[in-house]
Amino acid sequence: MSNIADDVTQKQSQLTSAGVTILGSTGSIGVNTIDVVMRHPKRFRVVALTAHEQVDRLFEQCCQLHPSKAVMVDQVAAQRLGEKLRDAGVQTEVLSGVEALQQVATLPETGIVMAAIVGAAGLLPSLAAVRAGKRVLLANKEPLVMSGDLFVSEARRSGAQLLPIDSEHNAIFQCMPPGYTTGRAHQAVRKILLTCSGGPFRSVSAAELSRVTPEQACAHPNWVMGRKISVDSATLMNKGLEFIEACRLFGVTPEQVKILIHPQSVVHSMVEYADGSVLAQLGNPDMRTPIAHALAWPERIDSGVRSLDLLEVARLDFERPDIKRFPCLRLAQETAEIGGTAPAVLNAANEVAVAAFLERRIAFTDIPVVIERVLAEVPISREPDLDAVLACDSRARATASRVIHGLDYKPVRGMR
Ligand code: NAD
Ligand code: MG
Repeated sequence: MSNIADDVTQKQSQLTSAGVTILGSTGSIGVNTIDVVMRHPKRFRVVALTAHEQVDRLFEQCCQLHPSKAVMVDQVAAQRLGEKLRDAGVQTEVLSGVEALQQVATLPETGIVMAAIVGAAGLLPSLAAVRAGKRVLLANKEPLVMSGDLFVSEARRSGAQLLPIDSEHNAIFQCMPPGYTTGRAHQAVRKILLTCSGGPFRSVSAAELSRVTPEQACAHPNWVMGRKISVDSATLMNKGLEFIEACRLFGVTPEQVKILIHPQSVVHSMVEYADGSVLAQLGNPDMRTPIAHALAWPERIDSGVRSLDLLEVARLDFERPDIKRFPCLRLAQETAEIGGTAPAVLNAANEVAVAAFLERRIAFTDIPVVIERVLAEVPISREPDLDAVLACDSRARATASRVIHGLDYKPVRGMR
């Protein structure tokens, strides 16, 4: 039987469409967000799109969605986009520079901000959206890792809704009790069981890992993602960042988060309660599910994701992670224990090391070596403000570049 009050709310929410800003619209999450939004033209209206420098893709998106504003961080790219849009007769106003990202994240006509920039570059625009009290769909996990509780406390102050897009954290959120708000501890939650596919090198020996190439690292068995997160998934740093993200988002201690390798990527994570109940969220590995969930929350809408066929999946395996072969996971867990700016140092060193690996300047197995050295060198602040976090990020990046320079890496032939 349908509930009349629910029907009325649903009809009202469909009458006034929600304005959406997509930060990082040309990336993997950005493109999936557009896919979901376009399935519901009455419900969502794209107000602004942003990208770093991919002119052609942003041009196509502007022609398709007619946002009122588009940002290209790169000035030359912005100029080219502006010319192309003028020639095509599209009215979108083009802005450039990093401040413009914050401007479109806080527009009055925007109610929902998808934070899908990769890395620390997303910190200031997502924080601006949080401070402006928007519904912030957080795919970009690095800012949360870097800025600690700052992000969550700003959301509490402004009344912003912080909804996780990372499939694991979205799953955990879905398994939380009704009415749960991110950033708060829940006394009935005993543990969080964070699942991890194990990445493309789950069964690769330590010796072979030193010879893997960027192409092999970016070929994830279950998910199609941007290059940086793909490498993070291969080193298991992604799970390390997610471990810290889980502590921040759900108010749990590092001891309460248990990582399980689950190669099928069907159980997206679980919550264990005080009474021994374990709740899980399952689904096909497709980011449109968490995106649709957070866009429509607390309602449910079609995401375009096909039904999960458990007979086809047939079995669900769980294993312990191997921190000897994947030291990035250990390093991230250690920084979660240390707290303060330690996760920001870890994140910055990782971003610089991953970029160097993708440019073939260091080996895959050098990534944790660089991070560990940077963590040993950069002093940690205990209760940092935003300026201290940003200063620490810069210092860790400079140290990482120096460490990489000193490694004197000679490229070797890739693994067969
Ligand atoms: P991506 O590399 O595919 O896209 C990144 C987007 O950010 C692009 O639009 C790019 O133009 C923009 N960008 C890059 N550098 C920028 C800069 N300096 N300033 C402004 N914009 C910049 O990345 P992705 O895979 O879509 O991931 C985005 C974020 O979402 C990451 O933080 C990632 O960890 C997280 N995430 C991704 C997935 C996934 O399935 N792809 C899953 C969970 C979480
Ligand atoms: Mg994830």
